[in-house]
Amino acid sequence: LTILGLESSCDDTAAAVVRGRDVLSSVVWGQTELHSAFGGVVPELAARAHAEKIDLCVAEALDRAELTLRDVDAIAVTAGPGLIGGVLSGVMCAKGLSAGSGKPLVGVNHLAGHALTPRLTDSLPFPYLMLLVSGGHCQFLLVRGPQAFERLGGTIDDAPGEAFDKTARLLGLPQPGGPSVEAEARTGDPKRFAFPRPLLDRPGCDMSFSGLKTALLRQRDSLIADQGGLTRQDRADMCAGFQAAVSDVLQEKTRRALDIYLSHDPVCPGFAIAGGVAANQGIRAALTGLCAQHGVNFVAPPLALCTDNAAMIAYAGAELFALGQRDDMTLQAHPRWPLDKSAAPLLGSGK
Ligand code: ATP
Ligand code: FE
Repeated sequence: LTILGLESSCDDTAAAVVRGRDVLSSVVWGQTELHSAFGGVVPELAARAHAEKIDLCVAEALDRAELTLRDVDAIAVTAGPGLIGGVLSGVMCAKGLSAGSGKPLVGVNHLAGHALTPRLTDSLPFPYLMLLVSGGHCQFLLVRGPQAFERLGGTIDDAPGEAFDKTARLLGLPQPGGPSVEAEARTGDPKRFAFPRPLLDRPGCDMSFSGLKTALLRQRDSLIADQGGLTRQDRADMCAGFQAAVSDVLQEKTRRALDIYLSHDPVCPGFAIAGGVAANQGIRAALTGLCAQHGVNFVAPPLALCTDNAAMIAYAGAELFALGQRDDMTLQAHPRWPLDKSAAPLLGSGK
């Protein structure tokens, strides 16, 4: 199967062509500069830029794959969740391409794109356990099939990506915050500042990250009051302390998720990580070590397939297409679209 994928749910306009598990092309047009003066993504600006760029991205993706629309089997598009203006740009473009070429249309959940990426990069059979950790989400999922996701737990407030972005903003570092905080943390002392590890005293794998930014804000303001500003080293130490706290929480809660799974089934076929925050080397290293201790195969896709891209949408589209999913001109854009709606509980039922 050769699938053209389109993605425009947040601040990256992307198109890609995927054949089987080969990524023939993957074009990502980032909007970081467009939003940099505002300290966050401005939905209206994002929507306009998606509408302007999506056709160019599609043309470029087909060009790099040395194919035309005639050569693809279907057009997969992110139909949510995300910023509605952006999602609409992608859906309308995909409908136009489908109407013009007669190629079938497949609407894809953006989170399913992230969650199925480990199968694009590795031969990982269903079911597998995963941590989907991104700009807007953080959840442990049991992935039983392309449309069967069971949520074991997740954040009760902010997503870690959001916390990385806020941390960067509070310290005057560039957006997106994840890569800049990670870069600063490399020369920092993670022990200098105390950061909370919330909910570790509670059973299960729910998490909380909103207290981290409050702790950071307090530490930052008290340093500024004491010494009139922040040194480069202060920033690095705060980033290192913050990142270590996120990493510790994710590691401990992953241990719980593995324990829950292993108490139902003695063999866990694999644990995967995906989403933008999965690009973080410290977090990858912590989870690699944990899975090695448990004898569980650990899958972490390459960085460019962790952050938003259209190859994951094309791949998820291929899995859905193979199951018979076909959409038409009535395909809608969904601002909200939880992944675990359709799954009957397996672990949750106490089976
Ligand atoms: P969602 O997928 O939940 O709808 P999104 O699509 O905006 O949200 P992604 O593109 O998957 O999110 O991830 C972007 C997030 O990942 C940003 O918050 C960014 O700061 C974070 N991120 C990217 N690289 C890193 C990194 N190296 N370390 C930590 N966080 C990172
Ligand atoms: Fe995403």
